[in-house]
Amino acid sequence: MLASQPLTASAQDQTHSIAHHGAEPRDVLRDVFGYPDFRGRQAEVVDTLVQGKDAVVLFPTGAGKSLCFQIPALCRSGIGIVISPLIALMKDQVGALTGAGVAAAALNSSLSPDEQDAVRDKARSGDLKLLYVTPERLASESFRRFLDTLKIALFAIDEAHCVSQWGHDFRPEYLSLAALGHRYPGVPRVALTATADPHTREDIIARLQLDTAEVFSTSFDRPNIRYEIVERTNQRQQLLDFLKRHKDESGIVYCLSRAKVEDIAEWLNSKGVRALPYHAGLPAETRAANQDAFMLEEGLCLVATVAFG
Ligand code: ADP
Repeated sequence: MLASQPLTASAQDQTHSIAHHGAEPRDVLRDVFGYPDFRGRQAEVVDTLVQGKDAVVLFPTGAGKSLCFQIPALCRSGIGIVISPLIALMKDQVGALTGAGVAAAALNSSLSPDEQDAVRDKARSGDLKLLYVTPERLASESFRRFLDTLKIALFAIDEAHCVSQWGHDFRPEYLSLAALGHRYPGVPRVALTATADPHTREDIIARLQLDTAEVFSTSFDRPNIRYEIVERTNQRQQLLDFLKRHKDESGIVYCLSRAKVEDIAEWLNSKGVRALPYHAGLPAETRAANQDAFMLEEGLCLVATVAFG
């Protein structure tokens, strides 16, 4: 389900928005999200926010940062406001939440004015537990006046490294998020990122005025990821030998140019390795079809440029 679709509260949504207020986080984890246990330091972050304290979360991609604010938003009364820089990310999260029966929506420019009104009405009537917005919208005074009318459970600032000028993702509107602490005292704030370098971390804490927040970080060591550098002797044969050692597994071969992508994909197929190309020069339907095949099929090799992010 996408953010733009379900704009009226279903009976199921209401069950979730009302039934979990005051519930034990672990029960919500199990009953709503279907997981038996918290991972890593998730439980500590959740407890901190449920108690109304601020947090900074530095966990690697895939660690499960979303549940760190989604569960406290469900356990506390009011609505959780999530600041997210990308509409695609919002859609993913709102889709997953509504799929789990949680009353969630996004307010962004992909919605028509009527759809935006419907989301605001639903938030005002207390029928939404999570609302995703862009930093630009949160920076606007009219939106803050709307927020003033709501009971807010927490603020989650996702991709918080966007507040730092050290990286490539700097978004000036993130700077205005510092004001949230003054305007909504007592509402816990959590900043989350997978960027863990010390400069970014200091910027997040200073620029978002989170100096009293508890900081949670976990190891960025990913034991399932390994780099191996080998000298190039016969590039194609080396690639083929490597793929043969990983027969029936799926993987991505990255190339530097579109022409190379086409060339290698064709050559691999001629050698009996099922391979599909992916680069920005292919028609959108071909790209989508090849991506879907990669997600669904076993033993498929995708040959791609960095357009396959
Ligand atoms: P991140 O934002 O840190 O990259 P996500 O919040 O997208 O990670 O979570 C990554 C995946 O891990 C999701 O599919 C999520 O449902 C799953 N996940 C998160 N927490 C748990 C948990 N405690 N047990 C099992 N799976 C979890």
